[in-house]
Amino acid sequence: MKKIVIAIDGFSSCGKSTMAKDLAKEIGYTYIDTGAMYRAVTLYSIQQGFFSDDKLDEEKLESSMNDIHISLRFNPETGRPDTYLNGVNVEKEIRDMEVAGKVSRIAAVPFVRHAMVPLQQKMGEGKGVVMDGRDIGTVVFPDAELKIFVTASPVIRAQRRLDELKAKGDFKSTFEDVLANVKERDEIDSTREEGPLRQAEDALVLDNSYMTIPEQKAWLLEKYHNIVGS
Ligand code: C5P
Repeated sequence: MKKIVIAIDGFSSCGKSTMAKDLAKEIGYTYIDTGAMYRAVTLYSIQQGFFSDDKLDEEKLESSMNDIHISLRFNPETGRPDTYLNGVNVEKEIRDMEVAGKVSRIAAVPFVRHAMVPLQQKMGEGKGVVMDGRDIGTVVFPDAELKIFVTASPVIRAQRRLDELKAKGDFKSTFEDVLANVKERDEIDSTREEGPLRQAEDALVLDNSYMTIPEQKAWLLEKYHNIVGS
């Protein structure tokens, strides 16, 4: 069966990664979480003190870009890739609220995107990948054979994210905090100059506000089989 690139873009916390991971597992593709890469750069910037309050010292970050090495390595225990920053597994740290609060600022910096996009293109060059992000169908793989644009209402997304954080033991974050973060990321991601979040013209839209995970999976599988055959 021919191998293709599947690009899944959309708003924050709309379940893209769960869908993308499930689909990749089902069809034997590699799942690539591009958001994790921007999160890892953010974590590095926090660790190195490049933020003072919410202000980022872009010059310091730019001169350190060569010292940031990010890789995604498959974890057989979870069946998912873990993110490594300079050889250290940072999968847990990159998901916390401090990183979530700063990642869109980092992801809007052109030189950061210029460093991440070629890495992502390299990861997908052999095809057989499901890649999730914001600009995959528009910038990273504009020729992807299957492009999906996922959306859901902000309130529903915030509730899902809160449930996820609680499941990971974070009981500090409130619904209001998470909703504000979701809205702020939407705004920054959609209005930045470089690689803004937007729907590719040839993307199929999936509004999953009222869909269950199995329904989404069935929807995606149908689109995949429409392209590669059964
Ligand atoms: O997908 P996730 O929510 O983990 O992504 C974290 C952040 O990384 C997004 O809010 C967005 O600012 C940025 N991002 C991006 N381009 C991508 C993937 C993520 O700008 N391809």
